[in-house]
Amino acid sequence: MTVVTRFAPSPTGFLHIGGARTALFNLLFSRHHGGKYLLRIEDTDKQRSTAEAVQQILDSLAWLDLSPDEPPLFQSTREARHAEVAHQMLAAGRAYFCYCTPEELQQMRERAIKEGRPPRYDGRWRDRDPKEAPPGIKPAIRIKAPREGETVVEDLVQGTVRVANTELDDMIILRSDGTPTYLHAVVVDDHDMGITHVIRGDDHLTNTFRQVQVYRAMGWDEPRFGHIPLIHGADGSKLSKRHGAVSVLEFREMGYLPEAVCNYLLRLGWGHGDAEILDRDEAIRLFDTDGVGRGAARFDFAKLTALNAHYLRKADPARLVRETLERLARRTELAVGAHAKARLAALMPGLQERARTLAELADSAAFLAHPRPLPMDAKARAQLTPEAKIALRELGAALGATDWSVAALEAATRAFAESRAMKLGAVAQPLRAALTGSTQSPPIFDVLGALGREEGLARIEDAAR
Ligand code: GLU
Repeated sequence: MTVVTRFAPSPTGFLHIGGARTALFNLLFSRHHGGKYLLRIEDTDKQRSTAEAVQQILDSLAWLDLSPDEPPLFQSTREARHAEVAHQMLAAGRAYFCYCTPEELQQMRERAIKEGRPPRYDGRWRDRDPKEAPPGIKPAIRIKAPREGETVVEDLVQGTVRVANTELDDMIILRSDGTPTYLHAVVVDDHDMGITHVIRGDDHLTNTFRQVQVYRAMGWDEPRFGHIPLIHGADGSKLSKRHGAVSVLEFREMGYLPEAVCNYLLRLGWGHGDAEILDRDEAIRLFDTDGVGRGAARFDFAKLTALNAHYLRKADPARLVRETLERLARRTELAVGAHAKARLAALMPGLQERARTLAELADSAAFLAHPRPLPMDAKARAQLTPEAKIALRELGAALGATDWSVAALEAATRAFAESRAMKLGAVAQPLRAALTGSTQSPPIFDVLGALGREEGLARIEDAAR
């Protein structure tokens, strides 16, 4: 059997980070088993589904490298097929027409609630002759759910889960207006797409008991189900806006790398020993549903950030130059051209060591693209005492006579400090302030080298004034 999984988001909003984890688990599971990973856009709720949300989902998946193996299937294009299956069930006696009016259903619900029973359809048309149908009422089609015994599902994550069939009622599969219900459409689509494993959030677990009735009524092979616990915030409640970013594209905007997000999401609720750093290949090699925990996972931004710092240190500097330039180009106070690009490329190895996110990286690199005169923060300004300014002017003259390589610049600065009986730091700190406008940066001679002779000397001159 070839494993086929799917991710099935509803395009009613942005892709939530929890949805991304579901997509990731489906991808990893199918890759691990040498199978296929598909995408179905569940856009049957026409009021709430939007084209922008579809695009956002596709963009988010692409960014995370979780695009499906085939173009997405849009559930809304399959209504005729959903109806066809409902009618097949009807013909086979596994479903029936229900002529209840909305008022009758409402009364039924109210009575049940009053009597302390769960509001279930009472099956009044289940065995009634359709000839008794009241005139002018378009019927819905309901499935004949089993009434005795229990429905048991062997869940890959939750283990054996069961429900008494008296808890289930005869759900509608086709509404009186001919549109399919969601629970029915999902099963028909999963069947037709050849899905062998349904891995999704455990908020769908109760749907599963109803969905398996459709498989059984049609005599279709049931897929294996794996219901993964939802993601919670640090306070233990379901992760939501109030915990901070929740949409995938927000994480991108905040400067997280997609591979760090995927690694973090993988570890959130799945484990393999104490392995923390797992790239995609390693994840594919190790992933299986038996490593998925049953308890809700708690989202920890600090952990994600630490992981991101790791991936930033490992990232190809050329890629980070591109990413950083894009961020710097949005800042109107900067001049982002060829000079900035060259300086950034020269200094990136030092910068990427120190940043935890792309946003921090851009902040720490902005000085490279700032036109003179460079703004100074308060700590940097405090470095520029009258004595420091004198030293800087003289240092500038000494450097002006030096070959502009990092080694030569360092040697010249050391010689300069020695000749004045100054500690290197007493020269280097004002120099850092002059070149970067702050008191923190990569090694100062690397900074000098990256800025180049003309810009480096000019910044020193500015600060000495
Ligand atoms: N469309 C559903 C959702 O976005 C998922 C349905 C499923 O995975 O079966 O929550």
